[in-house]
Amino acid sequence: MASDSWVFRVIPAPGESFGHFLGRFRRANQLSHRAIADHLGVRVSWVEDWERPSRRRSPTELQRIALSKLVEVDPKQLAKMLPPARLHLQTRLCAACYAETPVHQVNWQREGREVCDRHALRLLSACPICGAGFRTPVYWEDERCEQCELMFTQMRIYQQSRQRQGRSPSSATPEQSGCQQ
Ligand SMILES: [Zn+2]
Ligand SMILES: [Zn+2]
Repeated sequence: MASDSWVFRVIPAPGESFGHFLGRFRRANQLSHRAIADHLGVRVSWVEDWERPSRRRSPTELQRIALSKLVEVDPKQLAKMLPPARLHLQTRLCAACYAETPVHQVNWQREGREVCDRHALRLLSACPICGAGFRTPVYWEDERCEQCELMFTQMRIYQQSRQRQGRSPSSATPEQSGCQQ
């Protein structure tokens, strides 16, 4: 769009969470929290909070409008990326989704949602090998467990399918036929 823009534009992936996107944007442009805060005229601590859903501070509508001009993303789309009001505090992951699109998705953090809709796999709340919790998505540039270094994409084989939990119909034997859509 604006050819005189000084920013390196980062396109949000479908379903990407706000914190994950903001982290990618800041790294791509080598912008500190302070640089963003100064540009928007807000406190540095607010920008830091925006990247940490547990702090429960999201940009207001006016702040989203200002931010949209900086990141070149529609403010309505920014609103959809914000953490859900009913937030599952632990950062979660569907490794199958991540293998397709390496972003943290806002839907994984909805309280009460335990399964990825797309893959019918239970969401992971910690590394399946070492048990370490996942970092806040803003710091996911390594794409791996920070403790044992298992890649997020390799965690796919440890994700249980929905059938294996709870009352599974006896006809549904896990046949390892792969995921046919
Ligand atoms: Zn998935
Ligand atoms: Zn680990």
